[in-house]
Amino acid sequence: KANAETRQFEAEVQQILQLMIHSLYSNREIFLRELISNASDACDRLHFATLKDETLLQGEGDLAIRISADKEAGTVTVSDNGIGMSYQEVIDNLGTIASSGTKRFLESLSGDERKDADLIGQFGVGFYSSFIVAEQVTVETRRADEDKGVRWQSDGSGEFTIEEIERSERGTTITLKLRDDAEEFQAPERLRHIIRRYSDHIGRPILMPSDEEGQDWEKVNEAAALWTRSKEELEDKDYEGFYQHLTHDPEEPLDWTHNHVEGRQSYSLLMYIPRRAPFDLWDRERRRGIRLYVRRVFIMDEAEQLMPGWLRFVRGVVDSADLPLNVSREILQDNRLVRSIRAGAVKKVLGLLEDMARNRPDDYAHFWEQFGKVLKEGPAEDPDNTDRIAKLLRFSSTREPDGETVSLQDYVDRMKPDQKAIYYVTADNHETALNSPHLEAFRKQNVEVLLLSDRVDEWLVANLTEFDGKPLRSVTHGELEADEVGDSKDDEAKDERHKPLLDKLKGQLEDQVSDVRVSRRLVDSPACLVAEQGGLSLNLQRLLKEAGQ
Ligand code: ADP
Ligand code: MG
Repeated sequence: KANAETRQFEAEVQQILQLMIHSLYSNREIFLRELISNASDACDRLHFATLKDETLLQGEGDLAIRISADKEAGTVTVSDNGIGMSYQEVIDNLGTIASSGTKRFLESLSGDERKDADLIGQFGVGFYSSFIVAEQVTVETRRADEDKGVRWQSDGSGEFTIEEIERSERGTTITLKLRDDAEEFQAPERLRHIIRRYSDHIGRPILMPSDEEGQDWEKVNEAAALWTRSKEELEDKDYEGFYQHLTHDPEEPLDWTHNHVEGRQSYSLLMYIPRRAPFDLWDRERRRGIRLYVRRVFIMDEAEQLMPGWLRFVRGVVDSADLPLNVSREILQDNRLVRSIRAGAVKKVLGLLEDMARNRPDDYAHFWEQFGKVLKEGPAEDPDNTDRIAKLLRFSSTREPDGETVSLQDYVDRMKPDQKAIYYVTADNHETALNSPHLEAFRKQNVEVLLLSDRVDEWLVANLTEFDGKPLRSVTHGELEADEVGDSKDDEAKDERHKPLLDKLKGQLEDQVSDVRVSRRLVDSPACLVAEQGGLSLNLQRLLKEAGQ
């Protein structure tokens, strides 16, 4: 056609396509999962758009995904009556790397074809997975609010063509011309099997022809949004499949919690703890991973109001029965219902972590290693939950310096009978903390000291001032109390004896220190710097200085 345009794929897309085409690949069936996932998203987006503008439905309100095979033509077709794409959207979405899952995939590539091919199966890599089984892919689509359709076509080798077409149906039809070695995917039984295996949790009906002529369609999947179903009828693999649909995370989740809350307001929660921290966990701009639905209608991704910052690694779905459908991010910011859902969600996640800490210590240790630093922001952000958060914290200590394994409860349980406080030392790395001269007296007295060396630790101890009735106290703040270190009657005499030396040192260091004292805390080192009782800790002073304060 005269108006057809030929364009190059973005370089990174070409890289991915090469992998798809040249990898002898054992788990090729995932292409269908990816196409169904996109079709389902497109239906969700249309449904949402029609809340504001009903005319978009154009009389076709039963949103569904249709899958069929044509033996003669050697094709498989995946069709949806969702939102569709405009000309520009096709170029942007099917010629570049738009999705974050695909970006992460690219970052994980090792260059080893065998290994990278395995990654495809884990990540899926969205639409481009079509080329695992297809020698040619044709996309025909029309956006719900446009008159003209678009046809996109490619054999995956560097370029695609795109042109305007007439298309009466709204939505998207994707036709895969199967490669010779992928003929198995023409068999309806094989397709049904794959759908049930990977896409049972999809909330839209997935239909296949029920007869040879393709006149009647029957539903193949369960087609109830997973989180609306009862826990009893769901298996681990259902939860895991849904997690992958939601997050594009190649790994299985570490754990999840699924609840139907009834009461003054009703909502369903399904929240997952990932196994691995995302690369952008520390990016403050990053939104949080909760998807909001209202009565099963998709409202928005990354509704950050539903999960506090110190739980930003939690992924999942909240479905409210009470929020209005036209709820916006602005409304979410200050809404009583949202606050109470968030409080409920936080309690469920805390319960899940408490349970893991108690019953699956290995998993909890893994969790702590990945996300512990984030959890440490909790006491500052969420004073109401500080007690529960404090119980979940893990530290390294002079008693157990390898790894972070000591809970505050462990510490308190083995405190010496007359010990007054929970002692800690902060430093900018573990070695420095462990070798701090401040620890000498504590070692000698056999008093355990927590070793804090994460940046966030200063922030934590500034906000977590006691545990189980015991104050947290820095070893650089003032002195150990006399009854904690044993007798020290002769101190005053000592001070007297050393007065000339002390006066001389004070004179020399006048501008740098506020006092010079004889110390009871040192055993092997000749001198150490301490912070004034009630003053800023040395490490915090240093951090503030670094930050230009
Ligand atoms: P992801 O789904 O992670 O965004 P994909 O590679 O699977 O990445 O899809 C890329 C984009 O192409 C989607 O985000 C969507 O905008 C668009 N797209 C793909 N399939 C469809 C479809 N069936 N209907 C509408 N848009 C689609
Ligand atoms: Mg996708």
